Amino acid sequence: MSGAPARRAQVLVIGSGAGGATAALTLAERGHDVLVLEEGPRIPDSRYGGDAVDAMDTWYRDRGMTPILGRVPIGFVEGRCVGGSTEINSGFWHRTPRETLLRWRTRFGLDVTPEELEPCFAWAEALLHVSLHAGPRPASTELFARGIERMGWSAQEVPRAARGCQGSNACAQGCPTGAKQGVTRRLLPAAVAAGARVVADCRAKLLTRRGPRVTGVFAELGLGDGRRELVHFEADHVVVAGGPLQTPFLLRRSGFRYNVGATLGLHPMLKVVARFPAPVDAEAGVLPLLGVREFWPDVSLGGAFTTRGHLAMQLSDAWPAARGLLAERRHLASYYVAVRGSGAGAVRPAAFGEAPRVTYDLSTDDLRHLSQGLGRLASALLAAGATEVWPTVQRLGPIRAEADAVRWLDELLDRRRLSLTTVHAFSSCPMGELHERTATDSRGRLRGTENVTLLDASVLPDSPGVNPQGSVMGLARHNALRLADELAR
Ligand SMILES: Cc1cc2nc3c(=O)[nH]c(=O)nc-3n(C[C@H](O)[C@H](O)[C@H](O)COP(=O)(O)OP(=O)(O)OC[C@H]3O[C@@H](n4cnc5c(N)ncnc54)[C@H](O)[C@@H]3O)c2cc1C
Repeated sequence: MSGAPARRAQVLVIGSGAGGATAALTLAERGHDVLVLEEGPRIPDSRYGGDAVDAMDTWYRDRGMTPILGRVPIGFVEGRCVGGSTEINSGFWHRTPRETLLRWRTRFGLDVTPEELEPCFAWAEALLHVSLHAGPRPASTELFARGIERMGWSAQEVPRAARGCQGSNACAQGCPTGAKQGVTRRLLPAAVAAGARVVADCRAKLLTRRGPRVTGVFAELGLGDGRRELVHFEADHVVVAGGPLQTPFLLRRSGFRYNVGATLGLHPMLKVVARFPAPVDAEAGVLPLLGVREFWPDVSLGGAFTTRGHLAMQLSDAWPAARGLLAERRHLASYYVAVRGSGAGAVRPAAFGEAPRVTYDLSTDDLRHLSQGLGRLASALLAAGATEVWPTVQRLGPIRAEADAVRWLDELLDRRRLSLTTVHAFSSCPMGELHERTATDSRGRLRGTENVTLLDASVLPDSPGVNPQGSVMGLARHNALRLADELAR
């Protein structure tokens, strides 16, 4: 929708991703007047599953690589389109582990019990069709399973929001069959059917306030002909759901600073490319579906996207030695090590420009867990029959023997040589009742305000230790229900 959207609503929701769509649907179906502002474009169905480079240009923030600065720079990937990161993610689904929720209660005073969240997870799982993969598992999964078994570990298939997945391996540029459930499949249409309005190409720039009440937001609206206009949208209540970096950026710019943007957390990830003697055709199927929880919560091992572009990026650390491998693409599959993340991160407005300055200092624990995770992942893949494992570590070269892999259980990788990425960031505005550690209370209400609620990854108190979308949606549903009740009074 563009042109001249109505400029007033009972509730303004900023951002249309996992948290924003959950909030919009929950509030609209309870009769509230909801207006969603989304910075990114609305992607037509015909472009789902299209060209990867075109997708990065259009659907991703910063063309798919937002820099996180620190002694070890980390590339962060997130969506910037109607539906947010859910449109381009892999759809792996985890409820927040009970242990994590209990820790959040103890460390942050989060006043939410696992039992209270249970129906919220169930609600999201039903809407997103969360289920196990039907049909034969691809070779990249079976080989991973063999390696895990030979190591004597346990592993589970991770459920996905992708019932009827046909293995087109296009999650990262939008599922062409509609099996992978971004929130544009069911949540946002249901919100619109319940009366919500969604304005795309509209970036919230500044919240306006009178005392403890926010009165609305100044937003830059695309007019559809290349021109942009600064518009003031008014609201009785504002839900901010711009994601883990943009939410604190908008809040700090608008003068809200208390515990805002001071504690960014993330799951640093290191990828490996395994070469197997027989073709595995990983590019022709769904990514490896197993998750190893044996070393949880510090280290998780799993499967990563394998496409020509991803392989080129992952092998670039070993260039030119790895050049020949691209000719053997049918033999290659990608996997990852993700660590819980105990380093210190922050999001601050930069001196100039429209992007925040994001920092994360990789902790020694992170480095140890990444090293051990690499040792274990490489061991398992070699045990599965891989002939070579190429990590995204400059000048490390391929690991060809289990004896070379297990070295990393005891030694630390050279942090200057790591090429790390992450698709999981959170905790930049932690929530809970412990005032000194949190930016919002347990309902997501921003401290110092009467009518601003945060409902996205920014409020997870610290690392969930698992893929975060389930936690984002479960907590957003729980607090959107409370907000709906409050607004009805
Ligand atoms: C490639 C990839 C793979 C992933 N795989 C998984 C997975 O398998 N399982 C899992 O659980 N998680 C996965 N994730 C992470 C998961 O998608 C995110 O944690 C989750 O979507 C975060 O929800 P959110 O609502 O905080 O932000 P998002 O879903 O990113 O939505 C935020 C939205 O707000 C918009 N926005 C931001 N600022 C403004 C503004 N100022 N004005 C208007 N709009 C704004 C953005 O454009 C964006 O659309 C993956 C992410 C990526 C990128």
